[in-house]
Amino acid sequence: MNVMDWWYGVVGLSIPTMIVYVLVMTHVTIVAVTVYLHRFSAHRALTLHPAAQHFFRFWLWLTTGMITKEWTAVHRKHHALTETEDDPHSPRIHGLGAIVFKGAEYYRQGTTPETLNRYGKGTPDDWMERRLYTPHTSVGVSLMLVINLALFGALGLTVWAVQMIWIPFFAAGVVNGVGHFWGYRNFECPDSATNFSPWGILIGGEELHNNHHTYPNSAKLSVKPWEFDLGWAWIRVLTAFGLAKPLSTGPIVARVEGKTAIDMETTWAVLNDRFQVMARYGEEVVAPLVEQEYRRADRATRRLLKRSKDVLCRHEGLVDEGQQRRIAAVVGASPVLRILYEKRLELSAVWSLKSRGEDLLDAFRDWCHEAEATGIQALDDFVQDLRSYTVQPARPA
Ligand SMILES: [Zn+2]
Ligand SMILES: [Zn+2]
Repeated sequence: MNVMDWWYGVVGLSIPTMIVYVLVMTHVTIVAVTVYLHRFSAHRALTLHPAAQHFFRFWLWLTTGMITKEWTAVHRKHHALTETEDDPHSPRIHGLGAIVFKGAEYYRQGTTPETLNRYGKGTPDDWMERRLYTPHTSVGVSLMLVINLALFGALGLTVWAVQMIWIPFFAAGVVNGVGHFWGYRNFECPDSATNFSPWGILIGGEELHNNHHTYPNSAKLSVKPWEFDLGWAWIRVLTAFGLAKPLSTGPIVARVEGKTAIDMETTWAVLNDRFQVMARYGEEVVAPLVEQEYRRADRATRRLLKRSKDVLCRHEGLVDEGQQRRIAAVVGASPVLRILYEKRLELSAVWSLKSRGEDLLDAFRDWCHEAEATGIQALDDFVQDLRSYTVQPARPA
């Protein structure tokens, strides 16, 4: 091998080829993380053909050195203890910078034997795992380095460095950091998870983190028509080839036009879809009345009411002291907003009842009747719409 061979590699691929190669390789790794580790292993949101499972395990060993059991356990713990002291990677507790730039370190710290035992159930424990993947994590990534050097020569080292940084930065850092910090929220789930981009392309749909914390067992992370989840697109492709089967895609509720009775099935359906229902309460009831009150108010009150819908609808557990004072001032200034705010808290309390039977039905029915009795048109319309919910698929008339 002469000096030029050493510089350009044995195969000697060009720089444009190299860029495409980096994008393809890191993309497959992202798919392995979001589809295999996250949606399949940690959440059981889909089934995967054994061949697909083996491919993804091999790929993760080769390109990341991550161990399925460790990743799964740390992630399940994150969902179980989100934003508490025991959350393995909370930017609310440890600071955003720490999670974004040292996300992988928090992962390593999180993998205690106790965590693995408690949260790592149902992960691979076959010969390959025990003999190769788990004990020899550095062999895979070293092999990757050799392949890159052969393909690109000395530049292969740069390619390899990008591959090695990709997942710790984007998955461990950006999703776990930014996904609990910045962005928009479709749903008031009880932690501060955010969607930080409606197009989940770069990290395969993981950008839709608020949707994910709301429906953690859904194989599909996009909810709104304008959101795009690339991981879900890949699941569709795998499904078409008989390699995957989604088990859950979030709550499925049916609507029966003209149905007015509030029965057990209405209650279950609304309960199932409660995050969506609460979000609609904000959009269809609170927002128009904030708007109406704003138009009628004097200047000082207007300043208070401006954009107050978000604070009035924020999950009770996430309201800080400043927001609490703001809510008190808003409901003090507007009797109608006070009613809407109280009604929202009461509806939220209905869903936290332990009962899934008659008590739940009674509580929901009472709430509906009281809401109708307020005489607020938007609230009444909202209740009429909830009456049409059912768990049964609507039969064509
Ligand atoms: Zn999270
Ligand atoms: Zn998750």
